[in-house]
Amino acid sequence: MSIAENIGQVEVNIDTACEKSGRERSSVKLIAVSKTKPLSMLEEAYTYGCRDFGENKVQELTEKYEQLPKDIRWHMIGHLQRNKVKYLIGKVFLIHSVDSLRLAEEISKESVKKQVTTDILVEVNVAKEDTKFGLYTEQAADLVEQISKLPGIAVKGLMTIAPYVDDPEENRIYFKSLKQLSVDIMRKNIDNVCMDILSMGMTGDYQVAVEEGASYVRVGTGIFGERQYSV
Ligand SMILES: *Cc1c(COP(=O)(O)O)cnc(C)c1O
Repeated sequence: MSIAENIGQVEVNIDTACEKSGRERSSVKLIAVSKTKPLSMLEEAYTYGCRDFGENKVQELTEKYEQLPKDIRWHMIGHLQRNKVKYLIGKVFLIHSVDSLRLAEEISKESVKKQVTTDILVEVNVAKEDTKFGLYTEQAADLVEQISKLPGIAVKGLMTIAPYVDDPEENRIYFKSLKQLSVDIMRKNIDNVCMDILSMGMTGDYQVAVEEGASYVRVGTGIFGERQYSV
């Protein structure tokens, strides 16, 4: 299947999940996760109408940013090192992977320098997997509150990467608990914080994530095919 057909299929699946759960289709956005994929494939997705792309490496994101149309919204979804933050600010639309105050402080500092406000999500390791970055659920509210006091950075919601499973239903509890956490944090009414965005769901489980309230789903393989990592 072509990239356009793949995106079409993902869109249909999102439609179905919205209908099933009584959600507005417009409340869910698809991010085409294009890491490791060549520009030609991103261009094909762009031609089909994709404007949201996700990358997990700063250098790859900024290189693609330079070469593709400027109306693309770039999402940084991978683990972010503080020394690379400066290259991203002003180019990235949303950083999904903030998991420490030190990283948030760096984003704040560089954003103030460039006189922009950078929107971020706090990454939560809901399933407490050792192999994953992100805070535990219990730590998230405190970090959100600390970040809310920094200039040049705005918390817009939460992100999680659910475990790799064969049956996506197994991840439903994790999507539910990220949603619940966002409701709990919203109730705290912290200044400068909004909890509008829930970034959750990947190729294997995005329909379930949509049913549980995802506002962004991040789909790579389901659009561009398997990734090849050279060794
Ligand atoms: C690679 C990646 C995705 C996309 O994964 P697929 O299973 O290929 O859809 C989504 N989110 C994050 C954080 C990723 O690193």
